[in-house]
Amino acid sequence: MNLCDMCGKPIKAGTSLGGALVCRLCAVDLRDEMDQMQADGKSVDGLKIARQILRETYSDGTLMIKDFPNDLLVRVIDRAHEEGDCRRDFIVKYLYALLCETEKKGNNQKGKW
Ligand SMILES: [Zn+2]
Repeated sequence: MNLCDMCGKPIKAGTSLGGALVCRLCAVDLRDEMDQMQADGKSVDGLKIARQILRETYSDGTLMIKDFPNDLLVRVIDRAHEEGDCRRDFIVKYLYALLCETEKKGNNQKGKW
C-alpha cells in the first residue's frame, strides 16, 4: 500500500500530481500550492513541495518504526493533528503516559494493556 507523499497516510488509489502521489484531500492543497508557485513564476516540483509540507507538518523526528499497522498509523496521525502534536511528540507523550500508568499498577500488570 502506498503512502501519501504529503500527509503520510496510507492510500489505496492516490492522485499523481507533479511527480507526487497524494491522497484526494492533499491533492487539493498541493494543486493550490503548485498553481501559486506557477503564478509567481517559480519552478514547480510537486514531489518536492509535498515532501517539504510533510516534513514541516508531520515531522517524526528520528523515530522510525517499520511495519507500523496502517489502521494505527491513521489514528495516530488524526489524533496528533487534533492535539497539535507532530507524530513523534504524540507517540512519545502517550508512551510515557502508558508506562507511568502500568508502573503505578505494579509489575504484575506489565504487558497487560
Ligand atoms: Zn494526504
